[in-house]
Amino acid sequence: MTATYDVINPSTEQVVITVDLHDEAATDAAIARSRKAFETWRGVAPGDRARLLRRFAEVVDSDLENLARLEVTNSGHTISNARWEAGNVRDVIAYYSGAPERLIGQQIPVADGLDVTFHEPLGVVGAIVPWNFPMPIASWAFAPALAAGNTVVLKPAELTPLTAMRLAQLALDAGIPEDVFQVLPGKGSVVGQRFVDHPDVAKIVFTGSTEVGRQVMAGCAARIKPVTLELGGKSANVVFADADLEQAAATAPYAVFDNAGQDCCARSRILVQRSAYDRFMELFETAVKGVVVTDPGEERAEMGPLISAAQRDQVSSYVPDDAQVAFRGSAPDGAGFWYPPTVLAPADLADRVLHEEIFGPVVAVVTFDDEADAIRIANDSVFGLSGSIWTRDVGRAIRVSRGIEAGNLSVNSHSSVRYWTPFGGFKSSGLGRELGPDAPFAFTETKNVFISTKES
Ligand code: NAD
Repeated sequence: MTATYDVINPSTEQVVITVDLHDEAATDAAIARSRKAFETWRGVAPGDRARLLRRFAEVVDSDLENLARLEVTNSGHTISNARWEAGNVRDVIAYYSGAPERLIGQQIPVADGLDVTFHEPLGVVGAIVPWNFPMPIASWAFAPALAAGNTVVLKPAELTPLTAMRLAQLALDAGIPEDVFQVLPGKGSVVGQRFVDHPDVAKIVFTGSTEVGRQVMAGCAARIKPVTLELGGKSANVVFADADLEQAAATAPYAVFDNAGQDCCARSRILVQRSAYDRFMELFETAVKGVVVTDPGEERAEMGPLISAAQRDQVSSYVPDDAQVAFRGSAPDGAGFWYPPTVLAPADLADRVLHEEIFGPVVAVVTFDDEADAIRIANDSVFGLSGSIWTRDVGRAIRVSRGIEAGNLSVNSHSSVRYWTPFGGFKSSGLGRELGPDAPFAFTETKNVFISTKES
């Protein structure tokens, strides 16, 4: 442990705590301990592993308010979001606590013997997570991986290590054996890179930017190491003229400004059918101006600050003085990395605000003419993570859902993530899926065994 990192509260710009960062030697030592712990963890009877995970979920539940407050302080998440996030961690662990006893293989009919498949754990899984949803995204990786009999080393983002560190402590409190789940704060270029390069890390689960994901995948390719990638997005919210426009406009701000727009699933492009554009914009303006941007610790807060000064600079660069701003909401002055909800109306479909992930509270609205036009514009993106479709026509909802190249779509709603269902992206938004009933299998190798029944 050579370097340290000052964790900053993004609402106040004050230092919260100084965290020791793992260097390469400390990372290697943790991986070695993880590898050793794997030998016993994989042998824990399925029912006992299930019981330990259930207890872990209960311990998270009893620490829910503390975890939520920690996330408000470290990440500037609104308290209501942070409570949801801690609850999501509890639910994800509880859901996958059912997996150890259901990791069922097959018996396949073959000649002259018995043929069965086993789902063998991989070993040490390296999870690398981003700063925007530090708790849930960590649990989507570690819960199914642990359930399948793997041990996990997890690297939180440098900016947001606190809730992941707390979760590692809660795992121990729940009786999960030492070194089965370790959290290693550190730099991506040191700890994350070591996970990719180390021969004893059997798989990487990476969530973060497309740029770093590409590097991680290249590193894994050199070692034929399996990798799951959850990357960026530029999702479309498609509003047809036959939709419930009041509802579509009232909910659209929260589909992009939630978590201050720092959401891979943010509907940061709104496509409105031309005949409904004026009415939609009128309703949307009222809704945007109503978003409560304030101290995220307040119960009424709907949006907090951005994570850092650098992130605010990055977001601001998409809104130069001559930007085509339609209207904006408000944000506090003074300390904190605040940025107001901002609505752009670009005239050109090639404008970069329609193609690059801004990762802040900025949304661009454009028009379309018909169904085919809507699908064409929605698909004019290197990304394909999520999206929404607003229409009262069921057939159209299904046709457009099938036409849009994205992993997670919702009709007349903006939900993307339900832990019961698979989550992940098309195109540059990622590779593989997390969550849903199959997630534990992504942390196993299928082994086929043939047993001869021939008489000798
Ligand atoms: P990032 O790519 O900068 O960092 C992600 C993680 O990778 C961090 O822990 C970082 O330290 C680590 N890292 C950096 N360099 C590395 C390297 N060379 N080797 C290994 N690890 C390295 O992303 P970010 O800025 O933390 O997060 C924002 C991005 O994450 C956005 O693009 C967003 O869309 C994406 N994201 C995607 C999803 C999804 O599920 N698809 C969810 C949340 C965020």
